[in-house]
Amino acid sequence: MESRGGDAEAAGGPRVLVVGGGIAGLAAAQRLCGHPAFPHLRVLEATARAGGRIRSERSFGGVAEVGAHWIHGPSRGNPVFQLAAKYGLLGEKELSEENQQVETGGHLGLPSACYASSGASVSLQLVAEMASLFYGLIDQTREFLHSAETPVPSVGEYLKREIRRHVAGWTGDEEAKKLKLAVLNTFFNVECCISGTHSMDLVALAPFGEYSVLPGLDCTFPGGYQGLTNRMVASLPEDVMVFNKPVKTIHWKGSFQEAALPGETFPVLVECEDGSHFPAHHVIVTVPLGFLKERLDTFFDPPLPTEKAEAIRKIGFGTNNKIFLEFEEPFWEPDCQIIQVVWEDSSPLEDAAPSLQDAWFKKLIGFLVLPAFESAHVLCGFIAGLESEFMETLSDEEVLQSLTQVLRRVTGNPRLPAPRSLLRSRWHSAPYTRGSYSYVAVGSTGDDLDLLAQPLPADGAHGQLQILFAGEATHRTFYSTTHGALLSGWREADRLLGLWGLQVRQPRPRL
Ligand SMILES: Cc1cc2nc3c(=O)[nH]c(=O)nc-3n(C[C@H](O)[C@H](O)[C@H](O)COP(=O)(O)OP(=O)(O)OC[C@H]3O[C@@H](n4cnc5c(N)ncnc54)[C@H](O)[C@@H]3O)c2cc1C
Repeated sequence: MESRGGDAEAAGGPRVLVVGGGIAGLAAAQRLCGHPAFPHLRVLEATARAGGRIRSERSFGGVAEVGAHWIHGPSRGNPVFQLAAKYGLLGEKELSEENQQVETGGHLGLPSACYASSGASVSLQLVAEMASLFYGLIDQTREFLHSAETPVPSVGEYLKREIRRHVAGWTGDEEAKKLKLAVLNTFFNVECCISGTHSMDLVALAPFGEYSVLPGLDCTFPGGYQGLTNRMVASLPEDVMVFNKPVKTIHWKGSFQEAALPGETFPVLVECEDGSHFPAHHVIVTVPLGFLKERLDTFFDPPLPTEKAEAIRKIGFGTNNKIFLEFEEPFWEPDCQIIQVVWEDSSPLEDAAPSLQDAWFKKLIGFLVLPAFESAHVLCGFIAGLESEFMETLSDEEVLQSLTQVLRRVTGNPRLPAPRSLLRSRWHSAPYTRGSYSYVAVGSTGDDLDLLAQPLPADGAHGQLQILFAGEATHRTFYSTTHGALLSGWREADRLLGLWGLQVRQPRPRL
């Protein structure tokens, strides 16, 4: 076999560092640790815990998912589903054939109740009609997949153009039309949560259909999503995880030495914020795109090639947050699963500048009723965009007060008891995340995600690959998901195994 690592082989295998202990980093580490050729492996994690955007907190006498909520498309082709099943983390219903065969098209289910800002409830038939119109148009966007030219640049503009056409054919009085548009506006806000963007006008039309939806009715982890990443950590040798080790700068294309190993040189040196240094042959970077965007100028030395840096700037990365409210008593019906909220003065056809201080809460799409709590009654609200980022700047009391007012208004009950506690995510303020997940923004394409995934140096033949990239934003068709992140970690581990002429031990999932 051709010698690929020189020094590294002499020292008993290459030194590999994984930056970031989210599911992508853990997947890469697990794959490499399964191979005796990689005994010198460390995962440097900035925070005190593993899991990253998978974060389950014990709250309200149950588990609250602060980050990832569902396995999207839980069926055989989904590696997160497979791994969770292997670890015994899913229930009978989640594992059932019936569940795996459901085709959702990636759309959220219909609400069980829909409240309007006047305090009236909206007919669920009207909501279902608007959902069918909206999701029909979303599905139509696939027509433009790989089109060199699209009629408009963004998904938002396309949806609005088509909705205008429909409105022209609507009969009925003006009030009824206004209500339909207000319901549609809530669906735009739902889609902003799904895409993790401020506005669908920011999401590129042509590549939108490239995001792949797997079959299966989205399911949750009865014991919490983090059970999965905890199990992955537990499978690693004890000294692999290094917590509270934020990486400051990755020096590459160098020739670095370590006092303990005189004569050996390493092409990469990872410098941490606490002043410690780790020399390595290969580094797998899995930090979130939001972090990369913010630290682009200082995180790599020498800086990334222009094309790669441009891809990082162009790919979208927005905010979606959750707000959990715990109530003494439920005000909703026992079988209620999703509560939608509609602001009757809103319309997707009117461009309103975000009014943050006074009306941030109008971006909230409504609430999921969380069934998993035995003695507590908990709703989980979702809110995306600049309004969500503004919400992060408020105190818990301010958010609780605003949402109590919203709920009193929409239920028409001015005496509705305030929630007794609140828990929320703040993904935009999180220094090592800076947002929620990626999307293909206007001005970028799937090629930019592939470009982000390319290892460096670009001309690095054989053992010369120094920086490899994984993380949800590097998966062209499953970006923004846990399964995309997991696959990206395996992909980069396999790249290293291939580079060193080694066989991949675990079979790849069939996708
Ligand atoms: C609110 C919310 C809801 C979501 N819902 C779903 C869902 O229902 N289903 C789904 O499939 N996906 C969902 N996602 C997306 C999913 O959580 C992510 O795609 C996935 O967890 C990303 O994994 P990752 O390993 O790429 O990144 P991360 O999990 O973000 O891991 C990156 C790690 O790098 C660390 N790090 C950052 N900077 C440094 C540094 N300088 N040095 C060292 N370490 C560093 C971070 O602390 C973090 O632990 C959701 C995300 C959010 C925020």
